[in-house]
Amino acid sequence: MRNNGNCVRCGLRCQPGKRGDPKARPFQGAEKGLCADCAVTHLFLSPDFEMIRLGLLKHGLEVLRIPAIQNQFAEALIVGKSDLQIEDISWDRVIKQWNLPFPTGYRPHTHTKKRVGGG
Ligand SMILES: [Zn+2]
Repeated sequence: MRNNGNCVRCGLRCQPGKRGDPKARPFQGAEKGLCADCAVTHLFLSPDFEMIRLGLLKHGLEVLRIPAIQNQFAEALIVGKSDLQIEDISWDRVIKQWNLPFPTGYRPHTHTKKRVGGG
């Protein structure tokens, strides 16, 4: 049986990749099997969004509730031609499930090169 709509990370019933556009950049690869909220978290953990991630670590996840932050993210989705609609995202769930681990194969691509020395 195929996984037919439950998020592989949080188990939410959803329709991943219902209108998959191969040109959709931000959620390419990530959206398969992930609900909107988990896909967003996945994106935030990727190197492309490191600035946002560092901001979250510094100021706390609650900043995700700030409309200005959400608008910024919405713009990133538009620029990246993502399938995902900002309205699909439940920021509440994103925050609550932030520390939920990603299953193997869905782990975000973090930097592999470690910076030695510096500072
Ligand atoms: Zn999910």
